[in-house]
Amino acid sequence: MIQHSQTSLGMDQARQAILTPLTAVSGWERVSTRDALGRVLAEPVIAPCNVPAHDNSAMDGYAVRHADLAAGAESRLQIVGTAFAGRPFSGITGAGQAVRIMTGAEIPRGADTIVVQEIVRIEDSSVLIPAGQKAFQNLRRAGEDLAEGSVALPAGKRCSAAEIGLIASLGIAEVSVRRRLRVAFFSTGDEIATIGRPLGPGQVYDSNRYTLYSALTLLGCELLDMGVIEDKPEALEQAFIDASNNADVILTSGGVSVGEADFIRELMARLGDVAFWKIDIKPGRPMAFGRIGNAWIFGLPGNPVAVMVTFYQFVKDALLALSGVSPLPEHILFEATIDSAIAKRPGRCEFLRGRLAFVGGRCTVSVAGAQGSGVLKSMSDANCFIVLPEDQGDVASGGSVLVQPFDGLF
Ligand code: AMP
Ligand code: MG
Repeated sequence: MIQHSQTSLGMDQARQAILTPLTAVSGWERVSTRDALGRVLAEPVIAPCNVPAHDNSAMDGYAVRHADLAAGAESRLQIVGTAFAGRPFSGITGAGQAVRIMTGAEIPRGADTIVVQEIVRIEDSSVLIPAGQKAFQNLRRAGEDLAEGSVALPAGKRCSAAEIGLIASLGIAEVSVRRRLRVAFFSTGDEIATIGRPLGPGQVYDSNRYTLYSALTLLGCELLDMGVIEDKPEALEQAFIDASNNADVILTSGGVSVGEADFIRELMARLGDVAFWKIDIKPGRPMAFGRIGNAWIFGLPGNPVAVMVTFYQFVKDALLALSGVSPLPEHILFEATIDSAIAKRPGRCEFLRGRLAFVGGRCTVSVAGAQGSGVLKSMSDANCFIVLPEDQGDVASGGSVLVQPFDGLF
């Protein structure tokens, strides 16, 4: 159910209203482990073996039998061989014997304790071990990281470097992932000019389509770039119909604010079930959300920074949910000290572009340049949003504010 609302929506209300009706795409495919980077697991990865596969040494040193060591005195043991990583000692560690062992080498049969090389003395072919060694010390047990048959990664996990490495550590060469989400996107507006050509009078270059292209690519979506569509009803209607026939999601920018090009709102509403929301945020107040045919649609504002804010706060999680990511990543906010005063009226949540640093043992944040909703330079200079919640008023210099660090998408 799409929530229609005449009154304006709070941040959390809008997020809920978007996420509630969404269900993940159902298609999946098998891909090689490397190609799973950025993809979402369609089924759990079950460990086919123990990791580590064998009991092994965590240190360079000597493998011994703890029972051979005297409780309060130095012990002398006969060195009978060496165990290397990948080249085990084939014999048995008998009573009174020790085996020289390298990190990662399999523990020789009979031994149960590793003594690090830094604390021993060597005399001829004997090793002298000080008192105070604990049984089973410095061992890594087979299956200690992952036991055979256990869930190594749950379905719904999006694979980053750690997951790809983990899958490889299990010897798995192929996994099942959800199909990529197909996202159609276009810019609207008669004033929007295509890059690589001279700018006409009153025109602005289309940056939104490039921002969206980049963020969608980093999210692993399959893209259908539909270019710039003029503010003409027939052109827009055709674009919406084509997009809804070919994509899971339609993203547009511009044309959703009240008053200008009202037919876009009319069109979206006529072609599908689309709600127009005033959200209590700055920038990014007007936004459309709904469904046309089988596609979800997000009508983002036109201003370039408003596009980025609404994408980051609303669209990103929706795309992840539709891609099968579960649970969704936490929105991590924490407090930092602001180094200038900020004027703010209570009533809506404001997102400022900020520059976060760790100075003198504290997280400090500065406002990253001019904050107009068209200023992409300060978006580029920023590494976080400064989040001023709805009920927040003015902030004094040296006061505390919430920050939301960018997560690699921006
Ligand atoms: P609109 O919501 O269509 O009124 O657009 C708001 C502002 O954003 C206007 O100044 C537009 O020129 C600008 N804008 C809209 N679309 C884009 C775009 N694709 N790239 C850059 N600026 C845009
Ligand atoms: Mg416009």
